[in-house]
Amino acid sequence: MVPEDVKKRIEELRKEIEYHNYRYYTLNDPVITDYEYDTLLKELIDLENKYPQFASKTSPTQRVGSKILDGFQSVRHPYFMYSLDNAYSMDEIVEYDKRIRKLSGISEISNLEYVGELKIDGLSIRLKYERGELVLAATRGDGRVGEDVTENVKTIRTIPLILQKAVDIEVRGEVYMSHAEFKRLNSIRQRQGLPLFANPRNAAAGTLRQLDTSEVSKRHLDSFIYSLEFPERHGVKTQWEALRYMHELGFKTNKESKIIRNFEEMKKYFDRYEKIRYDLDYPIDGVVIKVNDISVQSLLGFTAKSPRWAIAYKFPAEQARTRIIDVTVQVGRTGVLTPVAHLEPVKLAGTTVKRASLHNFDYVKERDIRIGDIVLVEKAGEIIPQVVKSIKEERDGDEKPIKLPKSCPVCNGPVGKLDEKDVAIRCLNPYCPAKLEGWIEHFASRKAMDIRGLGNKLVTKLVKNGLLKDPGDVYELNVETLSKLEKMGKKSAQNILDQIEQSKKAPFNRVINALGIPMVGEGTARLLGEKFHSISELSRANEKELMQMAGIGEKVARSIIDFFSMPQTKRMIDKLISHGIGVIHELPLQKTRPLNNLKFVITGTLSKPREEIKNRLIELGASVTNTVSSKTNYIIVGENPGSKLSKAKALGIKSLDEDGLEKLISQLSKKKSS
Ligand code: NAD
Repeated sequence: MVPEDVKKRIEELRKEIEYHNYRYYTLNDPVITDYEYDTLLKELIDLENKYPQFASKTSPTQRVGSKILDGFQSVRHPYFMYSLDNAYSMDEIVEYDKRIRKLSGISEISNLEYVGELKIDGLSIRLKYERGELVLAATRGDGRVGEDVTENVKTIRTIPLILQKAVDIEVRGEVYMSHAEFKRLNSIRQRQGLPLFANPRNAAAGTLRQLDTSEVSKRHLDSFIYSLEFPERHGVKTQWEALRYMHELGFKTNKESKIIRNFEEMKKYFDRYEKIRYDLDYPIDGVVIKVNDISVQSLLGFTAKSPRWAIAYKFPAEQARTRIIDVTVQVGRTGVLTPVAHLEPVKLAGTTVKRASLHNFDYVKERDIRIGDIVLVEKAGEIIPQVVKSIKEERDGDEKPIKLPKSCPVCNGPVGKLDEKDVAIRCLNPYCPAKLEGWIEHFASRKAMDIRGLGNKLVTKLVKNGLLKDPGDVYELNVETLSKLEKMGKKSAQNILDQIEQSKKAPFNRVINALGIPMVGEGTARLLGEKFHSISELSRANEKELMQMAGIGEKVARSIIDFFSMPQTKRMIDKLISHGIGVIHELPLQKTRPLNNLKFVITGTLSKPREEIKNRLIELGASVTNTVSSKTNYIIVGENPGSKLSKAKALGIKSLDEDGLEKLISQLSKKKSS
């Protein structure tokens, strides 16, 4: 390149990198992958090294991080809070080792000891203690000026407020969110209709910069401390000793750190954690290799951005950018319709990816993902890559919205949600071929006919061989047909048939559950089993008769009637009846139903999913409705109750929290049994 072109490229790169810094650090909303960002930065560093005449103090190579937000006090760091240099291959690590040996004058034969540490994927924090008391916690910000987040950091239980010794000390570490907490937080946000965090790093950064400390405290952030500032003041001579000293003072240090003496050990260390990274409860994105001896560290010093005595060895990129060419819809074993994005092929964590999951249609709508969009795809521990976001800035107007399917792409049957809260759209045809295997597995499951030997592998084989077209066919199987299957001897065939025979004794409510009537789960099946004497009687029930039952609404009644009016159902039921299943049974005594005839309404977030509590109430004889009326007996109130509570209060309806509900159940149970 001629110098003019070089200058132009350098300027371009600087502008581009600044923009991405802003998106990443300030907005917490990056639009390119980390790998792409690191590649841009590397190109800029290389050009600046080669053409020092174009160096500039304001270049992004000279600083880390980005601007700080309003709302927090800014803190000027007394020393620069560095970032780390990156390597993506063992070759780069070998190069690195050579470079620092040369700089420090340590020959190749003599030992240069390193400490291997995990690179925690959170955000950097500086902690200052005076006479053992926490006086300041600051984010890194742009390396020179950060934000005072002391109050928020005090909510993190692993960060000691008082140390084991009354020392003046400064340390650095990482604040992160565990995978479990990340999942918990996102599932609450999904229920509340709030945007989801893309990954634990984003969630941790978003949380630590929350202005409401009580909200931070609910989110259970955690920490690892990995660096001691001014080690010489504490008589500490190596990084290894520093880790031990900080641990003794009460900090949480990472126990996977290890002394590393050669490349072989380094590779082993890296490979081990690359393999088990998702088995750890905290997010990591690589390992960090640090020179152990602090006097060698001092000799090596720093570049403008990072220490020369440490390098991050990052795992292969788990995120990639590509374009959605098309979207098709897959029907799962339970009938759930999943939109699948077809992508321009892209390399991701060592494989070429052509498809990615879009989860469900609510997810697509929330993120406004369209066909033709440039998107970020991520693997992050899941086997199936997923589309994380679309980059709206890059649209040219030709993108097409992803339409909700009007019918099932496999059987053309009707589609819909089972209830309003369901995020999944499902094929509602019980006889859809895509659902057959799932249906038979449900039929054979513990809460249904309980046929132990009939697991998913065998079901797949039987369906593939055309031996099962509906669950009724299970009872038509015999030793000859079964033993024709691959790897199936006469003895195991007989075992399975014995189990099938045994299942004929299943109680009637489990038979109803086994039928897989859409919208009829275990609880409703139990109610039906208490009212009807046989499948034939149930199949003749009309809408009015069903709706008179506590706990059965219009939609469920309609679904039962539609199911029994299908000719395939009639054929299946005939088969079952011919084997003595679902014929006449005694109605159970209703004595153990303490909540009979009581009507409940639920509002707010409870300690368990609402559906679970609702089913339990129904099983105990109550009916649960969505709207409060003068007929309601009790309203169960969870956290953040809605307008139902004020309506209930106005009508003078008794309200109960979960404890109150338990008390009521136990009082009424005692009454019934006495
Ligand atoms: P970094 O994440 O690459 O690594 C440095 C950080 O690692 C340290 O500051 C520290 O916080 C952390 N760390 C974790 N464990 C550690 C340990 N045991 N010892 C020492 N440090 C440890 O650097 P960064 O400056 O925080 O962020 C830069 C990263 O952000 C790069 O990977 C870059 O790709 C990404 N980025 C991406 C975009 C984008 O648009 N996608 C934009 C800007 C930055």
